[in-house]
Amino acid sequence: MVENKKIILVGIPGVGKTTLLTTMVEILKDHKKNVVVINYGSLMFDVAKENGLTDRDQLRKLSVFEQQRLQKLAAEQISGHEEEVVIIDTHAFINSPEGYYPGLPEHVLKIIKPTNFVSVSAKPEEIYNRRMKDDTRNRDKITLANIKKELDVQSGMISACAVITGSPVRLVLNGEGKIDEAADKIIKAIGL
Ligand code: ATP
Ligand code: MG
Repeated sequence: MVENKKIILVGIPGVGKTTLLTTMVEILKDHKKNVVVINYGSLMFDVAKENGLTDRDQLRKLSVFEQQRLQKLAAEQISGHEEEVVIIDTHAFINSPEGYYPGLPEHVLKIIKPTNFVSVSAKPEEIYNRRMKDDTRNRDKITLANIKKELDVQSGMISACAVITGSPVRLVLNGEGKIDEAADKIIKAIGL
């Protein structure tokens, strides 16, 4: 059995997960670490494309049943990774038409067996501005009140993940213009 770090990094859309991970990977590669980043949504979309889906942002509009099926297939692929550091870029929950739906339900956590969680947040106003300026994505209606609500839901969902798995959660603030600082904090906290 391999003893690698499997780190699940969550944050609401636009908080800066992908940006932060790009910086972390540069630092880790400089330190000759064998690291891989997996974007859970992209992996699910790859599987969904084989079933006819064409827009990534349609994923969260599928029935919860269908999302659960795709989620499980993606988890099985992730569990096969044996790199020294495996980082999973994902969401603690998804805004589905049926309500907030867990990105990391127990059945998925049992397959992936994460060693660490990182929960990224930022000031609601900053998240709002980051979403507004990123026009590569087809985002849902954006309000400050919604963003605050989502940060609350994230905190509940990630606490549940820690209890289910027994793995620790590191909370990190991705402050405006402070990507390097946030990346450093995560690397030090997890001892990468
Ligand atoms: P999604 O869940 O939709 O994939 P994400 O959490 O991966 O979102 P990013 O795509 O990484 O978010 O970032 C969203 C936007 O915010 C980008 O335009 C990015 O450049 C900007 N951004 C991220 N972090 C910071 C920061 N610390 N300071 C300033 N801008 C930032
Ligand atoms: Mg992203």
